[in-house]
Amino acid sequence: MASQEAWQSPIAPGISLYQETAGERPSYPSLDGSRTCDVAIVGGGYTGLQAAYYLAKAGVSVVLIEACRFGDGASGRNGGQLGTGQRWWPEEMEEKIGYERSKALFDLAEAAKRHLLDFAMDHQIDIDFMPGQMNVSHKVGYQRAYHANAEIAASRYDYPHLRFMDREETQQRLGSNRYLCGVRDTGTGHIHPLKLLIGLARVAANAGAGIFEMTKATAIRQGGGKVTIETPQGQIVSSKALIACNGYIGNLEPVTASHVMPIRSFIGATAPITGHPDVLAGGEAVADSRFVVRYFRKTKDGRLLFGGREAYTADNPRDITQHIRRQIAEIYPTLGNIEITHAWGGSVGITMPRQPFVRDVMPGVTSIGGYSGHGVMLANYCGKLYAETVLGKSADLELFRALDVPAFPGGAAMRAPLLFLALSWFALRDRF
Ligand SMILES: Cc1cc2nc3c(=O)[nH]c(=O)nc-3n(C[C@H](O)[C@H](O)[C@H](O)COP(=O)(O)OP(=O)(O)OC[C@H]3O[C@@H](n4cnc5c(N)ncnc54)[C@H](O)[C@@H]3O)c2cc1C
Repeated sequence: MASQEAWQSPIAPGISLYQETAGERPSYPSLDGSRTCDVAIVGGGYTGLQAAYYLAKAGVSVVLIEACRFGDGASGRNGGQLGTGQRWWPEEMEEKIGYERSKALFDLAEAAKRHLLDFAMDHQIDIDFMPGQMNVSHKVGYQRAYHANAEIAASRYDYPHLRFMDREETQQRLGSNRYLCGVRDTGTGHIHPLKLLIGLARVAANAGAGIFEMTKATAIRQGGGKVTIETPQGQIVSSKALIACNGYIGNLEPVTASHVMPIRSFIGATAPITGHPDVLAGGEAVADSRFVVRYFRKTKDGRLLFGGREAYTADNPRDITQHIRRQIAEIYPTLGNIEITHAWGGSVGITMPRQPFVRDVMPGVTSIGGYSGHGVMLANYCGKLYAETVLGKSADLELFRALDVPAFPGGAAMRAPLLFLALSWFALRDRF
């Protein structure tokens, strides 16, 4: 157990609070020679493992490989907020794709939320669910938009769980005077992401999926109606393959790499804040209106978990703790000296329009990812939908496939420097 807790992911900085509070985290073997199967899956986050589970359950032979340990990617290290709908508010989506498609995507996200909660309950995975989420505004002038958001959700999206909060209510619920209005969502909540991931891996293995850790795909190619995946431990030859590598795709497959870009986000967890009962007294999670979103919540054991700073280059900040402490102190001055017991980071896979990337990148090979910070419920559901597509049971994945997700300017090679400039500009605007 002690050595499990001390596990330092080779692909992300810091040891997370989740690692120390998730309970047993079983190891899985690495691939031990070549295999043939119906469907090969690369990437063992929510997307890959959900797909593996539903395929194996239906009797399809599946081999899934994960380069590190299950949970080392975003799925084991995220902020745990489920959210509602897509990354964009429904009214923003409508402007892009019209009401009908926007409504269909909203409904799909609601199905994703139900799926996640039902999945955890059906498989007795204790995910530390806590209800409630608030979107809050750090600027004057957003009041009307927040008001409209709650009204539109109820009247046009059959979602009656949003309530506008004025300044007084916002500040009272947050226990902070830094925000000016907000929307409270009682139809969603937040979870312990690694507990979900560990439970999901167990369920997939029990269903008969061949799941392997510490096995990195080094190449994928297609020929003669088969897909071949190379790893140092052997080849996997399959009829179909799913690339579920998200922000960790690297150079494995160029189409995905030019459409899904990693942005690193960092989280700190404080010691329990029992002496500060005003801070998030209702237990809701929070996401703010900054371009570089600050997201925070209390955990089941009464800590403040705070995420915010993003990095657009390969370097990690020298001291994640210092950055997080500064941001906490801005919102909660009385917590300025609180001990930060854990600080960690992970790669968020984003796309240009901040909508998921679903595409066949070669015959028989589908790539899914790029949920742009909104993947806790969507990644779980997209994995299931991929399985249902293979099984011919549902066409719902097509709604995502139809989204217009262009490549980043400059493709895989230039996306990092160009995006660094663009995102740094927007992040700078947050400060004024
Ligand atoms: C710090 C942080 C905070 C976040 N907060 C939230 C939040 O509050 N709410 C929300 O909805 N979303 C949040 N997200 C995003 C969310 O976690 C992701 O969208 C989701 O987990 C994506 O799941 P996935 O399975 O597609 O990818 P991942 O979980 O990233 O898994 C991809 C896996 O592929 C593996 N892989 C990559 N290349 C290879 C290879 N060549 N061979 C084998 N394996 C490979 C990686 O090791 C990795 O484990 C956050 C993300 C981060 C990093």
